[in-house]
Amino acid sequence: MNATPRAAAVDHVLISTTAPNRSQVWLAVGVVVSLFAAMAGVAPYASQSLPNTEVLLPAYAAGVLVIELITSALLVSLFHVQRCRAILLLASGYLFSGTLIVPWVLTYPGLFNSFGIDEGLQSTAAIAALRRLGFPLFILAYAVLSERSYAGGSVRLAILGMIAAVAAVVCLTTWLVFSNDRHLPDFMIDARNVGLLWRYIPVLAGLIYLAGMVALSLRFRTILDLWLMVVLVTLLIEVVQISYLGSGVRLGVGWWAGRLFGLASASIVLVVLLSETTAVYTRLARSEAAQRRTRQNRLTAMEALSASIAHEVNQPLASMVTNADAGLRWLDKADPHLDEAKAAMKRIVDEGHRASKIVSSIRTMFMKSARERERLDVNDLIVQVIKASEADARLGRVSVNLDLDRGAPHVIGNAVQLQQVMSNLIDNAVEAMRSVGAGQRTLRLVTRQLDHGDVLVSVEDTGSGLDAAHLERIFDPFFTTKPDGMGMGLMFCRTVIDAHGGRLWAGPNSPRGAAFRFSLPPAINVDTGREEE
Ligand code: ADP
Repeated sequence: MNATPRAAAVDHVLISTTAPNRSQVWLAVGVVVSLFAAMAGVAPYASQSLPNTEVLLPAYAAGVLVIELITSALLVSLFHVQRCRAILLLASGYLFSGTLIVPWVLTYPGLFNSFGIDEGLQSTAAIAALRRLGFPLFILAYAVLSERSYAGGSVRLAILGMIAAVAAVVCLTTWLVFSNDRHLPDFMIDARNVGLLWRYIPVLAGLIYLAGMVALSLRFRTILDLWLMVVLVTLLIEVVQISYLGSGVRLGVGWWAGRLFGLASASIVLVVLLSETTAVYTRLARSEAAQRRTRQNRLTAMEALSASIAHEVNQPLASMVTNADAGLRWLDKADPHLDEAKAAMKRIVDEGHRASKIVSSIRTMFMKSARERERLDVNDLIVQVIKASEADARLGRVSVNLDLDRGAPHVIGNAVQLQQVMSNLIDNAVEAMRSVGAGQRTLRLVTRQLDHGDVLVSVEDTGSGLDAAHLERIFDPFFTTKPDGMGMGLMFCRTVIDAHGGRLWAGPNSPRGAAFRFSLPPAINVDTGREEE
């Protein structure tokens, strides 16, 4: 995709780039079914007339005007962020349809006569025909125009140009209609009944609606596409109500029901835009709060870590000094005790290794390459780690059970660090199973996609299990229950998973042992703006 970096960065939060989830699709289906049910409910009364209800038309027109202008403004702001020309075209469709309702209601026969406005029989119908055919053409153009049509140049200029063009077309149309009623096609035979010529309009409109639906379903990718299809269905119902069930007779039940469907249709995209905008703000506020918490936690963890490192490295250093002193004393004697001196040297070497291990594990965590991220399949990482563990004979007599969801999304991460995390969890699991009989040692590795899209990895063993009293502390630096343990493994794992935007937690495994689980956010596909599936 040609998207600017800025567009790519916001891709996953816009209704024009995010794919609808299953519940949104069901909601849209529900709306369509209810609209059809409403149409069927009104059908028996459609031809009844509702005299004198034209006084309600200005309120209706004001409603449509406000709704379509706000929708257009929101779509313009969407274009401002995403810079996709098709969105600007859609915004101009709403602006065109919204502003044309003004001359439509002003010219409605008999409505504004007392203000000196009497434009004859045909003006309102001519404007109605223009709106009815014009608006779905904008949707059709939106559907056909490639998503790749990103606007270069000034966005502000594009927006001003669009507003000026629509204003010019609407003003020109209004002027033509106001000054030429006698030359307009004979759509109406009197103020309420349509003539033969009008019969072509609903057919033409219906064909454009259908073409729009086909075009949208062919490129069906985003939440906006889904709801534009619902808009077209609503418009189709409107035209069927007005022109067929209501026989095109103005101010009848069918005609008014059609108007209400028109109002519903005008509101659909607005409601979706507003609800999605609210959802985006909520998500942003939540993620901002989470980031602040993470920063705070990281600071506290860093302080604790520095204090612990100082303490832990100090211990082998102190022990090395003591042993070196002792060794020197053994050698200084008139009859040097070589064995004791050798034992002291050996302890110095061991302590030296211990200190170096602490330092190198800290380096793995903070090494520069740790910031290098790439698209990864966790399943592949697991298989690689298991193969490496088998090659090093680290798995011992443990039977390995892989339950991998091959359809799980990719993640963005550092392969070395994530492999290290899995390797640590697997080593811990294998160690915990040393206390149980060889036949009962099972290591189970599971991957799944969670409902909200995250990838879950679970490392389950049938070992000694976690002591409830230690559960809170096992992730602390240098906490260990093993005689030769360092207590750095789980702390490292949690730091890495946190830095990947995920979560690591532990709990009991069923029927026995421990389960360590972590989740990672899915990679966002920059080409489609969707989370990968
Ligand atoms: P280390 O392995 O050096 O002790 P870790 O941070 O990896 O350091 O682990 C800390 C402690 O958590 C371990 O000493 C052990 O008590 C506990 N632990 C970790 N993994 C398991 C497991 N799979 N089963 C039981 N206890 C575990």
